Amino acid sequence: MDKERIEKAVKEILIAIGEDPEREGLRETPRRVAEAMEELLAGYEKREEDFTVFEDKSDGVIILRDIPIFSFCEHHLLPFIGKAHIAYLPNGKIAGISKLVRTIEKYSRRLQVQERLTKEIADELMERLNPKGLVVVIEAEHLCMTLRGVRSPGSVVVTYQARGIYEDESLSRSILSLFGK
Ligand SMILES: [Zn+2]
Repeated sequence: MDKERIEKAVKEILIAIGEDPEREGLRETPRRVAEAMEELLAGYEKREEDFTVFEDKSDGVIILRDIPIFSFCEHHLLPFIGKAHIAYLPNGKIAGISKLVRTIEKYSRRLQVQERLTKEIADELMERLNPKGLVVVIEAEHLCMTLRGVRSPGSVVVTYQARGIYEDESLSRSILSLFGK
């Protein structure tokens, strides 16, 4: 990430909104914003890191619920914040919880739209684990919706991807009920 360029751009924004970028409180702001962006958008740097998979013969569904998630709406560069839920029915392979969380971070710490984010997480988990079935649900509040425009605080966007046997509507509905949806 070109932090120097971000700093210059932030300074330009400060000038454009009529502020004085040299005043005490703002002098370090471009640098701080650049550092924050580097951290919050670190998903671009994530390469094909090791994704350890264990052989496992368990045949019950594995559910990871209420994983905190934040990302950035690519239309407004404002955050959307919420929770992700994953359920999969293993097909001989399972993954550690941290690997699932890291997969979510890899795709969420980028400029995103929630629908694509949900799909990218589902695609990667299908490729890594090849489960018999998979459901990924993300529910998030978009600050671009709640702070501006139609201003609907508290409204939550829910996106959903089902793969394998859970593409069957009645099966996926029973999984969603396990998420409390
Ligand atoms: Zn937006």
